[in-house]
Amino acid sequence: MHANEIANHFVARTTRMLGVSAGTASMLLEPRREVKVHLTLERDNGDLQTFTGYRVQHSNARGPYKGGLRYHPSVNIDEAAGLASLMTWKTAIADIPFGGGKGGIDCDPATLSERELERLTRKFVQQIHECIGPYVDVPAPDVNTNATIMAWLMDEYSKLHGFTPAVVTGKPVDLFGSLGREQATGKGVQVITELLLQKIGPPLQGCRLAVQGFGNVGSFACSLLHERGAKIVAVSDVTGGLYDPNGLPVPELLRHARAHRSIAGFAGPKSISNEEVLTAACDVLVPAALDAVITPEIAGAVRASVVVEAANAPTLPAADEVLEKRGIVVVPDVLANCGGVVVSYFEWVQNLQQLRWSEPQVLAELEQKLQSAFSRIWDLSQDKHVSLRTAAYIVGIGRVAKAVAMRGVH
Ligand code: NAD
Repeated sequence: MHANEIANHFVARTTRMLGVSAGTASMLLEPRREVKVHLTLERDNGDLQTFTGYRVQHSNARGPYKGGLRYHPSVNIDEAAGLASLMTWKTAIADIPFGGGKGGIDCDPATLSERELERLTRKFVQQIHECIGPYVDVPAPDVNTNATIMAWLMDEYSKLHGFTPAVVTGKPVDLFGSLGREQATGKGVQVITELLLQKIGPPLQGCRLAVQGFGNVGSFACSLLHERGAKIVAVSDVTGGLYDPNGLPVPELLRHARAHRSIAGFAGPKSISNEEVLTAACDVLVPAALDAVITPEIAGAVRASVVVEAANAPTLPAADEVLEKRGIVVVPDVLANCGGVVVSYFEWVQNLQQLRWSEPQVLAELEQKLQSAFSRIWDLSQDKHVSLRTAAYIVGIGRVAKAVAMRGVH
């Protein structure tokens, strides 16, 4: 099941619950535009290889399309459409003036040299530059993309349209990126986890976490939650997992992962499989890798009492039902990982105003946005006796549907 089917399931369920008309519901489900381009790369050895690039623009009812670019062999139009839809609800939930978009290239960056990756990125921009722009569609990093790639994107776009840092967020700080952007999604995961635990426990101090994925989101979430007193008992990346019931040495693990670009080879803790990380004995499970990893079988075996969806669409709808029946509280992706796009919004604002905020200012504004989104969704879930996911979709879809109704569809 793709991210698209997962997102559409939750959207359709909420529109039925809200009594949204069939016409409006189908408009909210379908993206406005799907762009597919073929990118022929000259490899360093002179061979030619063709990749496919995608950009899906789901909704711009509340502002320019906004969302990441993913470089992964599994990238396809359906996955991009689902992730673009999630961005629409996420930006509405965070109450920032953007819509939803997503895209990427079906490549494995681990098999490309840095120069090849740069040529491929620039070629992608040459093919999609007419569809993006600071007031049209603003990409950002996602799986296997980073500040360096965003810098190439900005440079190539600027060659064609004049100097335009606001065309993309997640840039290097020295190239008009925002302080605090790199850790923003992990920071959001930490803040939202703490806000939830303050409501339902256990206390963060000593709370046991299992985290799947140790990239940008997973590693910052681990580091920040560890600094606040949580015990990270299990982590994994694409190479496998590590487990220590007494808590992993997070600073050392981070140093190892930065040096080796993986947690593989870190000596000491017991090695476990990726699946075992999801079902490890812990209080909070944080999927922070790819989508569709929590299947109904895994959901039946999860031992955490809370799941914080740091990744996008990690839980299949049938698995979500299993978790709900088992009384496991799920913080949905559209809330749990919205910290990244909130700071992307701050970066865009700084670029347009040609000024720079201090890191404490960025983090204070981020916390305020997260607190307000969390409170709105928590209160609604309590009032209506619905899950946090349902409450989040009610808020997101409600705001987008209202904007569509006020702007009209002419
Ligand atoms: P990343 O590329 O930095 O890291 C991905 C991590 O997942 C790596 O540690 C990788 O080894 C691991 N991984 C890949 N395949 C795996 C597998 N089969 N099993 C276990 N681990 C695996 O990506 P990221 O930016 O950290 O994104 C992770 C998730 O968070 C994605 O779902 C992404 O869409 C979502 N997200 C990212 C941001 C952001 O700002 N980067 C914002 C919101 C949501």
